[in-house]
Amino acid sequence: MRLLLVEDDRMIADALMKGLERHAVSVDWVADGRAALDAIPLADYAVILLDLGLPQLDGMDVLDRLRKAGKAVPVLILTARDDLSSRVKGLDLGADDYILKPFELDELMARVRAVVRRKAGHARSTIQAGEVSLDLATHTVTFRDVTDTLSAREFALLRALAERAGLILSRSQLEDRIYGWGEEIESNAIEVLIHYIRKRFHKDIIRNVRGAGWMIPKV
Ligand code: CA
Repeated sequence: MRLLLVEDDRMIADALMKGLERHAVSVDWVADGRAALDAIPLADYAVILLDLGLPQLDGMDVLDRLRKAGKAVPVLILTARDDLSSRVKGLDLGADDYILKPFELDELMARVRAVVRRKAGHARSTIQAGEVSLDLATHTVTFRDVTDTLSAREFALLRALAERAGLILSRSQLEDRIYGWGEEIESNAIEVLIHYIRKRFHKDIIRNVRGAGWMIPKV
């Protein structure tokens, strides 16, 4: 496992690197926020350990830019900033965990393992959109307290909506996503699929937007 450590205090960085290496973790170390942003695209880091008080660019800004650039790498904030607003802000900006200094190495390692595990589970196979959850491996869908397995077409339709939860998709957008080039499509095919999906779960699983299309609400 390879981590990026972003920490401007050399003593803390040295101690952490020695400790992490004993856990068979290889660590790349950078000492300021800009260097962190430069380093992140260069390797496939399992986790980034991010201090907040950093030269050049504050840790919060590093995190913000990272997430805005669409990078999903897990980030653990390691900081002495223990006030509520920093903790809330860090997590809301997309940190996966927030650890206060000083900390025990064993706890840090346990938290690193936990975020790596969560990420693996996520990447494996589920999409969550509001109250709808889709398992991509089994085509199983859960809505409120009902779980059922859908046909390939029904699943494709629901997946198209779930991937863009909160946005309206028109009939032709849905047809494009579900049917291949040159396939014969009945004019009411989408309605029929939606009818069957609703019948198995509840009509609320997909919302009609009159004259525009359909959507799954985000919340
Ligand atoms: Ca610092």
